[in-house]
Amino acid sequence: MNNITLYGADWCPDCRRAKSFLQDNHIAYKFIDVDLDEQATKKVEQINNGKRIIPTLIINGKTYTNPDNHELSAVLGINEDYRIVMYGADWCPDCRKSKAFLEDNKINFQYIEIDKEENAWAIPIIKNLNNGKRKIPTIIINDDLVLVEPENEELRQALKIDEVKEDRIFDSIIIGGGAAGLTASIYAQRDRFDTLILEKKTIGGNAFLTEKIENYPGFTSISGPALMDKMEEQAKVYGATIKTGEDVKAITKKNGIFQIKTKTNTYFGKTVVLSTGSTYRQLGIPGEQELIGGGVHFCATCDGAFYRDKDIIVVGGGNSALEEGIFLAGFCKSVKIVNILPAFSASETYIEKLESIKNISTYMNKTSLEFLADDNGQFKGLKIKDNDTQEEEVLTADGAFIFIGLIPNTDNFKELITLNERGFIQTTGLAETSMSGVFAAGDCREGAIAQVAAATGEGVLASYGIRNYLKN
Ligand SMILES: Cc1cc2nc3c(=O)[nH]c(=O)nc-3n(C[C@H](O)[C@H](O)[C@H](O)COP(=O)(O)OP(=O)(O)OC[C@H]3O[C@@H](n4cnc5c(N)ncnc54)[C@H](O)[C@@H]3O)c2cc1C
Repeated sequence: MNNITLYGADWCPDCRRAKSFLQDNHIAYKFIDVDLDEQATKKVEQINNGKRIIPTLIINGKTYTNPDNHELSAVLGINEDYRIVMYGADWCPDCRKSKAFLEDNKINFQYIEIDKEENAWAIPIIKNLNNGKRKIPTIIINDDLVLVEPENEELRQALKIDEVKEDRIFDSIIIGGGAAGLTASIYAQRDRFDTLILEKKTIGGNAFLTEKIENYPGFTSISGPALMDKMEEQAKVYGATIKTGEDVKAITKKNGIFQIKTKTNTYFGKTVVLSTGSTYRQLGIPGEQELIGGGVHFCATCDGAFYRDKDIIVVGGGNSALEEGIFLAGFCKSVKIVNILPAFSASETYIEKLESIKNISTYMNKTSLEFLADDNGQFKGLKIKDNDTQEEEVLTADGAFIFIGLIPNTDNFKELITLNERGFIQTTGLAETSMSGVFAAGDCREGAIAQVAAATGEGVLASYGIRNYLKN
């Protein structure tokens, strides 16, 4: 929330204008009447080189002398055609996607970061608008239209933004803006190839959702968002064009040029890199779909903060489950880890760490049967069954996180290139797929190591594939 002090007087017309503007836009401020406060008068004079000019505003530490409503709109992110309030959080990829869309289209909006303590008032508003679920971004337009986790196209239509057609032919179109795609773009741009990155959500991919990365060379420990912001910046420095909110649906080739179709646009490229990564696997048990986002989650970095001092369940037994379980145990009251196998498949480092953490308990050799909710639809727990004794029990908790592996995001390309039986893209040589001019890199590729460092390496390989193809 903005911190605003308005120094003014009741008789001053501009002060009344500025006050009405703030009030009409539901923006909280502190009013100090300079006629009644000697210190305030001195402060105003000090700000204005000895002159007593009102209204003088201090907004988030910066001073503004008699700003007009346009200036106030710009400073406070108020759109003059539409009043847009976005409730979101900096760690939330969908929030970043919507923010980037509004910013790219030069649309002012008020952004309320719900994680900040002073904005705790916003949580009940979001829950109220989303049937008890904390869904972000929740965007309110003109106090009237509520858009929850909207696609860019929904925002475009709601705000009547004209589409900008991109009809140039790029040397390469890179689909997916994670570590692999960003690296392919950095290398190709440095080779003087013109690249376009099309990203369905927000730049950064799965690494962006990772709390801490401790195995990316050069950084003993770095947060996923910080690392991915650096990669994005580097791609931009070398001239990559990036479009977020573009979900690639189909690729065709005509006269040697690839046509890449998203929901609303068509882009053209001489080569294509598929770096679409993979997505969280779901358990497929009763209650899961209904409770996703409202008790059942797949990303500890994204949603863990909602469970501070609460009891949670983690389902899974591999590296991700243990890594994220340990992270959650750092601030949750308790973490129950449910593993379908009798032993963890995670690396020894995690298993050793786990043993020393007091608020983690483990439930081995148990199958997850059903997520349970109370009469109000609030998450209540998970029913599990012992694989040997068949005995069932209910684990009560405030929420659950599922980390049981990933499925490749390749469904839209299955007609174009050869995938293996699990949907991963098969490649040879310089990241070449079964179609000439189409390359694949990162977690969507058969045999991928599923690590950030490996994905960047594969991005490099794909860039060499682009070079090789375009120079021949
Ligand atoms: C919970 C968790 C913890 C992890 N911890 C670590 C760690 O500590 N260290 C480590 O090295 N690795 C870690 N990893 C693995 C690492 O994040 C991945 O290996 C890496 O992100 C893979 O990069 P990528 O570019 O191949 O794919 P991704 O990062 O998955 O990026 C793919 C991108 O493509 C986009 N996309 C998908 N389909 C489309 C489409 N049709 N159109 C447009 N865009 C599309 C996606 O939105 C996504 O942004 C972790 C992963 C998870 C899930």
